[in-house]
Amino acid sequence: MRIARFDDDRIGLVRDGRVLDVTDQLTALLPPGPSSLARRLVADFAAVRPVLQKRIDEDMPTAGLSVDDVRLCTPMPDPSKIVAAPVNYRDHQAEMSEAFHISALGFFLKSPSSLLASGGTVRLPYSDRRFDHEAEFALIVGRRASHVTPEQALDHVFGYTALMDITMRGGEDRSTRKSFDTFTPMGPWIVTPNELGSPDDVGLELTVNGVLRQKANTRDLIWSAARFLAYVSTVTVLEPGDVVTTGTPAGVAPIQDGDTVELIVDRVGRLTVGVTGEGAVPCPTGGAGQGPVPPPAPVGRH
Ligand code: MN
Repeated sequence: MRIARFDDDRIGLVRDGRVLDVTDQLTALLPPGPSSLARRLVADFAAVRPVLQKRIDEDMPTAGLSVDDVRLCTPMPDPSKIVAAPVNYRDHQAEMSEAFHISALGFFLKSPSSLLASGGTVRLPYSDRRFDHEAEFALIVGRRASHVTPEQALDHVFGYTALMDITMRGGEDRSTRKSFDTFTPMGPWIVTPNELGSPDDVGLELTVNGVLRQKANTRDLIWSAARFLAYVSTVTVLEPGDVVTTGTPAGVAPIQDGDTVELIVDRVGRLTVGVTGEGAVPCPTGGAGQGPVPPPAPVGRH
């Protein structure tokens, strides 16, 4: 099942380029609460799944709207946290000249309010700093997970999605450099595990203005999705709707005003965002030229 959020907080099932609005049905079936409808759907998915599957079988693909005619929203608007993996591919460790990888670094957090929908625009805050794309494969937690084993971890996954961990380079803490508003594009929707298959063999490709910059497969992760989720759950309880993103491969490079950045993740779809430098100001913190050293920018980039 592919589950999207669109227009004015509508929930839809996506198939063959069409989206079927199931918002009214979910609102009637799911217990009310302070969380978004998307998060309540994740928390109670087992209860409503048969109803949704019946709608797909009976009404799709002919019913519904064309995906091109709706405005996609970030598929999970209110995770309690976004957990991210630093240095989880060896080729990225090499290009950054990092002495350590995930097994020494653990994880970091990104602000949930940094989320951005496919079709949105990344806003670069500063005129005098380097900002990079990072292509990542992410999972959405489905069941509360605390101290789970790698063998149990995938039973706690609701689904998978594409995510860009947009990053300011420099010496500030990761949580600062990666938490600017709009710095976590995610989507275009969430794909359930039965449709994705193994999270350990998923290809991803990122382009900037049509030029390929990153290409990888999750089989090359240092810590697999399951191992990373299990580890995170020994530090902090993972709640339904939480986002766990698995890290970026080699090829990180600067983005700048006017760019179009696309991330295609196998069996998930295409996440597309624009970039603007409008309103950028000089950076008030002094981390430029410090911290991990990124690879040189490709010709024509700065
Ligand atoms: Mn990252």
